[in-house]
Amino acid sequence: MMTRREAIKTVALAAGALALGPSLVRAENPDAIPGDLANPFKVPDLGYAYDALEPYIDAQTMQIHHDKHYGAYVENLNKAMVQAPERIQKMSVEELLVNLESIPEKIRPAVRNSAGGQYNHSLFWKLLKKNEGGKASGELAKAIDLTFGSYSNFQAKFTEVATKLFGSGWAWLVVDGNSLEITTTPNQDSTLSKSQRKQVPIVGIDLWEHAYYLKYQNRRPEYIKAFWNVINWDYASQRFVEATT
Ligand code: MN
Repeated sequence: MMTRREAIKTVALAAGALALGPSLVRAENPDAIPGDLANPFKVPDLGYAYDALEPYIDAQTMQIHHDKHYGAYVENLNKAMVQAPERIQKMSVEELLVNLESIPEKIRPAVRNSAGGQYNHSLFWKLLKKNEGGKASGELAKAIDLTFGSYSNFQAKFTEVATKLFGSGWAWLVVDGNSLEITTTPNQDSTLSKSQRKQVPIVGIDLWEHAYYLKYQNRRPEYIKAFWNVINWDYASQRFVEATT
């Protein structure tokens, strides 16, 4: 009998190392070259109305979060890149995060925070959509069932991990090597930067207070509960397939 891990591999993985699909690279601004003042990273539109996620995430939170917080990460990434050597300037945001150790120490903290903020939020906006009680489907649903036993077990585990995160950060469902895992990152760290085995994020929840405080104040568990109503499972499933083939 196959172990759960082997079964996941059979369901989900083609041969070869984990590859980042081309669509995950510079997804927000394919022509941008970090550090190029004539063509800096930009803040793309949200892609839907600020109130599209009401009542789960309110319009004012979305507007401030996207325009101001996200905007600042993008601006700071451009500022950091101006000081970077050319080989670093040519990297995509994903390459920066995977190769953080190769970034000069002087700008590494700024790159870590701002590239992480840019990447995490670019992903987050796309992963949000009112799902009317929807769940994962297709290969992702199969992998979730194999890994966690059931969708509701996955929900419970993810909720627990997210609720227990101390301070600011993110909770993630990632593809790590051959398996699905639930993990967290502090601050704006990306799962792509984790050790040698980068983890490709499939679902993520922003657990910074700026993501929920206007509506939920100190009630983070209510925000996490509401989050299940706004996961864009179509996009998450697409990411899963891209990360595993
Ligand atoms: Mn945020």
